[in-house]
Amino acid sequence: MPPAGMLFSYLQIPMIILVPMISAFIFGPGILSIGVPLVVIGLIIYKGVATPRSSLIVPTTWHGDRTGNSVNLSFDDGPDPDRTPRILEILREHGAHATFFVIGRHAIKHPELIRKMLEDGHEVANHSMDHPRTLNFAFHGRMLDQVSRGAETVMEMTDVEHEPLYRPPVGLRNPTLWRILRQRGCQIVTWSISSRDRHINDEQRYIERIIKRVQPGDIVMMHDGSDGPLSGPEITVRALPGLLQRLTGMGLECVTCSQLLGIRSADH
Ligand SMILES: [Zn+2]
Repeated sequence: MPPAGMLFSYLQIPMIILVPMISAFIFGPGILSIGVPLVVIGLIIYKGVATPRSSLIVPTTWHGDRTGNSVNLSFDDGPDPDRTPRILEILREHGAHATFFVIGRHAIKHPELIRKMLEDGHEVANHSMDHPRTLNFAFHGRMLDQVSRGAETVMEMTDVEHEPLYRPPVGLRNPTLWRILRQRGCQIVTWSISSRDRHINDEQRYIERIIKRVQPGDIVMMHDGSDGPLSGPEITVRALPGLLQRLTGMGLECVTCSQLLGIRSADH
């Protein structure tokens, strides 16, 4: 990784202040010398770091083959003792497969749910060990620790040797994370459609919003758990049967993320 990449990782926020200041110093204070660099840096950070559908700064996967008939439903922040079993039951009833991006410390508490995911043919993937929301602004050591311990927890609990897919907390990425994942031989997966299940409370609105956008190859991001003391959003459990019915009606098959991306068969 070139030093510029490392510099970018650690200067994401200071850059918003530093670049306009340097520009003002060189060109003199004024709306153009301060405002233009501010907007440009802001856009680069927003587009490259915070937008899930962007590889501007970090190579990121957010969808699979657009010509097939498969989509992926992915559930983040679990497993959760209340929501996850209900979601697993609904998926089983509909013959659907999904990917669970689990938080390592939750997974350790609920090995029975990880076993059930595997028994039902789902994929278990890494969503970091503790889900620190500010991980993208942490130094290399902390980031490495969160990614590695999350990955090793998943590998140990699922009894597989290959690196699980990784979804960063809140979807934020930077070049330091990319370097860590490249060294581990791991792929960053975000999503093409957010269910917005922490904001939408109406089942019909929840379903229609996804159905209006969905196309083959999409990765839909939902939550079965939470990184706080509460359970995942109840709306996801309530809306899931209707959503699966509509997806089936459209001829779309729900597969694991690795299957959608053609990385490997769902062998765990
Ligand atoms: Zn999350």
